[in-house]
Amino acid sequence: MKDLMQFNKKEDNSDEETRGKKNMKILTNLLGSNLVINVLISFMFVFMEWLFITTKPSFLSASSLVEKINVLLVTSFLLAALLLLISIPALLICSIFPKQIKLFAHLLGIIPAAVLASLALLLIDNFTYTVLKFGIVDSHGITSGIYLLIWIGLFVLANLRLAKHFIMRNSKKTGFKQTGILATVLTITPIILVMLFIRVPSGASGKLSLLDTEKSLPNIVLFTADGVNAKNMSVYGYERETTPFLDSIKDSLIISTNHFNNAANTSGSITSILTGKYPSETRVLFPPDLLKGGDSLEHVVAILRDLGYYSSQLTISHYVDASNQNLQNGFNESNGVSLESNSITNFLNTRVPGNTVLFVKEVEGRLFSRLKHIFFIETMQNTFEQITETQKDFKDLDKVYQAVELINQNAQPVFVQIHWMGTHGDKFYPESTKYSAHIDRDNQESWNEDLYDDAIVDVDSALQILFDGLNASGELDSTLIIISSDHGKKLSTVDRLPMIIHLPAGISRVLTIKTTQHVDIAPTILDILGQPQPSWMNAGRSIFAEDYPGGLVLSVGTDRAEDKSGTGQWTLREDYFKPPFYQFDYMTVIDCDRYYRLNLEKYAWSYGEVSSYVGACSEDDYLSKAEIRIIMVNKLIEDGFEFDQNLIPEIP
Ligand SMILES: [Zn+2]
Repeated sequence: MKDLMQFNKKEDNSDEETRGKKNMKILTNLLGSNLVINVLISFMFVFMEWLFITTKPSFLSASSLVEKINVLLVTSFLLAALLLLISIPALLICSIFPKQIKLFAHLLGIIPAAVLASLALLLIDNFTYTVLKFGIVDSHGITSGIYLLIWIGLFVLANLRLAKHFIMRNSKKTGFKQTGILATVLTITPIILVMLFIRVPSGASGKLSLLDTEKSLPNIVLFTADGVNAKNMSVYGYERETTPFLDSIKDSLIISTNHFNNAANTSGSITSILTGKYPSETRVLFPPDLLKGGDSLEHVVAILRDLGYYSSQLTISHYVDASNQNLQNGFNESNGVSLESNSITNFLNTRVPGNTVLFVKEVEGRLFSRLKHIFFIETMQNTFEQITETQKDFKDLDKVYQAVELINQNAQPVFVQIHWMGTHGDKFYPESTKYSAHIDRDNQESWNEDLYDDAIVDVDSALQILFDGLNASGELDSTLIIISSDHGKKLSTVDRLPMIIHLPAGISRVLTIKTTQHVDIAPTILDILGQPQPSWMNAGRSIFAEDYPGGLVLSVGTDRAEDKSGTGQWTLREDYFKPPFYQFDYMTVIDCDRYYRLNLEKYAWSYGEVSSYVGACSEDDYLSKAEIRIIMVNKLIEDGFEFDQNLIPEIP
């Protein structure tokens, strides 16, 4: 303060010209120290949040250290840029009234002080929640008020300190030089680091334009029922009439006899359907796995979006959810949440790697939910209660009604993905009592076949509602419907799954091949739309393609999942992120009606017959055991796993 008074006194004695120079100097000094403060605070804030999130299982668990550091740097840089942008008005006012330095120092300190107070609040909350099991989420009325007072106190304290700092720096003669150098270093370093590490998503390299804008595109419904085996459906020849509706329209459908999944687990399986890539390539198998880098933009939903589709996901959050699996620039809405609303994340989506966007979302959500709670704007939701609530209200049929409504009311073509959960198991609570009337549902045993069959009857009834609903409005003829399952009963990869197609009117296709797989679904959709298959969609082929390569079905799976939080949202165990095979516990190959499984933990083989396989396989159809081994080893190498090939024994 003394320095400042001297400074002002001196200024009074100076002439107009030097005063102008000094005003300029005040401004540049403020500019410099403002830059330093904002960059430092941004790094501090992001670092503490980053530390908190990276030390617990999260969407960053599967990322390498370089990727994690990249997230830290990019986010810090983004926050610093944002804070600097916000401080521009205050700086402009300072330049107009340079004499009011004391007042404006406080003005300039408002934003960084708010960030510092928020950081302290988050740290307090993390601490009390971890140690005392009490946090902002549990606070009401007076206790929320106490948090608010703490925040205001911290804010005032920080603002006073920062203002003092700005004035002090301004009064030092060497201030500008030092500050300038420090500011330059602090600004340039993150930019350089960001440039080094940043991997801007390559975009859907198969980006398409409307080839024929005059021809209207069909709606598309992708309907997967969880864990349904084809052999339990009468449309596939089951002796019990579990699919009377599908039976009745059988002649109008295309039915693949032997269809298989490429992942044993729901998230990996659905992701392979939407991307047309093997899970061993995208490394998405089970939460918290998610699509990273360019993979997050390379999927059939992004192509449909480019073609003008409105896309909706009616599935199950956590396991099959565009946000959770980081499927970007595709769905307009996912499980009731609009993916259009957040313009910041939309802006970032195309510019920074996917996990940075998720990190920004997570931190943004953590901070603002707490601030809104203590400022009495919006009560913070306890995640646990929220999940239990959603699952209680969970209704598969609502998804079907919503899909019908969405298609019937939209002028543009619609893509709807439905994932039906009633068939999941191990316990079933079907509406139908056709085969399970005699069973006490509250005391049922796991995997009861009668209940399972009735759960499939429910799926058939739902499909009838879908078909009838679209037929009533005349939309059925302009809708492509694909019906399948994510995996077999009990997460099987060696049981036939349904793969049933209803083609839009005017399009005809003939299926000649006898084995199809999940990664073929996206290319098949593109084929029916008359669109080319992009090169990145490399694992499958349209099942109607004349040059369908056929042959083997490769799949992967994990057993390392647990319900640690007790919320029903299972995640991979923390020990999974271990080379060489990470979350992948086994890889399976189906060769006609034979399967071979490599246990990736024990390097042990098992094999057998695909018991439900339909059709004859001659000796000429099979590959030798040596060939199978080489194909699997090569696939693992191709997908970037680093391991000693000699450890993989010959198939006995
Ligand atoms: Zn599933």
